[in-house]
Amino acid sequence: MAKVTFNEERCKGCELCTAVCPVKIVVMADRINRRGFRPAMVIEMHKCIACAACARICPDVVIEVEK
Ligand code: SF4
Ligand code: SF4
Repeated sequence: MAKVTFNEERCKGCELCTAVCPVKIVVMADRINRRGFRPAMVIEMHKCIACAACARICPDVVIEVEK
């Protein structure tokens, strides 16, 4: 199964990754990181197709995708 990990403290909450996910499983968390932003996270990881679109679009290299 694919695994998507976020370096949450680096996330600036720009939401680009939520827009590009083809299966719409990247959402913004309710918590706030140390920089004061709501970090992105994945819900329903089992739906991830490991396309890495989220990782590619992130300007801050927050996301890592493993197959
Ligand atoms: S790898 Fe693709 S399917 Fe998986 S969370 Fe990222 S954009 Fe969505
Ligand atoms: S694209 Fe990167 S910085 Fe922007 S919300 Fe997603 S993980 Fe955070």
